[in-house]
Amino acid sequence: MKIVVHGGAGKIPIEDQPDRKAVIDEAAEVGLAEDAPLEAVLAAIEVLEDDPLFNAGYGGNLQLDGEVRLDAAVMKDDLSAGGVINVEQVKHPTAVARKVMEDSPHVLLQCEGATEFADQFGMTTTEDLKSSKASERWEEISAEVHGLPYAEKLAKLAEMIEGHDTVGAVAWDGENMAAGTSTGGLRYQMFGRVGDSPIIGSGVYCNEYAAVSTTGMGEAIIRVNLARELVYHVERGESPQDGAEKSIERLKASTNSQAGVIAIDRQGRVGSAYNTRDMQYSVKET
Ligand code: ASP
Repeated sequence: MKIVVHGGAGKIPIEDQPDRKAVIDEAAEVGLAEDAPLEAVLAAIEVLEDDPLFNAGYGGNLQLDGEVRLDAAVMKDDLSAGGVINVEQVKHPTAVARKVMEDSPHVLLQCEGATEFADQFGMTTTEDLKSSKASERWEEISAEVHGLPYAEKLAKLAEMIEGHDTVGAVAWDGENMAAGTSTGGLRYQMFGRVGDSPIIGSGVYCNEYAAVSTTGMGEAIIRVNLARELVYHVERGESPQDGAEKSIERLKASTNSQAGVIAIDRQGRVGSAYNTRDMQYSVKET
């Protein structure tokens, strides 16, 4: 088994970097112990969803209205895929995404429908998913925008949205591949916003050529279909590393935005690239 795990791209506070890297390494080790790529991806992401240092699962960003709503998606190289958008009271949205893939006739479920689905399968929790760190960040911005007329509030938010600490993993077992991405979305995002992470081809993609997980500014990633863009390069015979670099260059050139990608192909070659200050990731192999 070979696995690549990322913990988001952006400006990761220098003081948090060692702790975050240790958790990403641990997540990769946990994934490596599994015997199938999808299980490896899920197990690795679950470690990060449980850790408040990352914007996924417990500790996910609070939206503008102060609620935590999560996005996640998984995909396998046979093109089976599942995802949830703005699901609530779920600690492991990637597990729910897998359930959507395997036990529903659909690919994506959103909002109340996703939460209802998770609940039916006993995957919701009554636990408070707001970490103190995420709540503190929200309090700050909330004080700044409170009372502003709606349009002004949105303009202010556009200036303040930052931080790309979505998590994701890709794995290969010598034969098959899988990919997964999980996030609390952008800080202070509007209720109803759909980011890239659960969108097949944007935040995640996997076919018989390669598996990809992305992080970064969702509005830009969606426009260039960043994950699919990378896989096209691999389909044309380029390495995942070249594909990673070229897809990030394309995103930068066409949207002037920021993102990071990880990839693995059917030969087990890995690639990664980002145009943010930092992106932490771990590559492990048995
Ligand atoms: N891509 C995520 C989003 O736009 C954010 C992130 O990567 O942290 O929802």
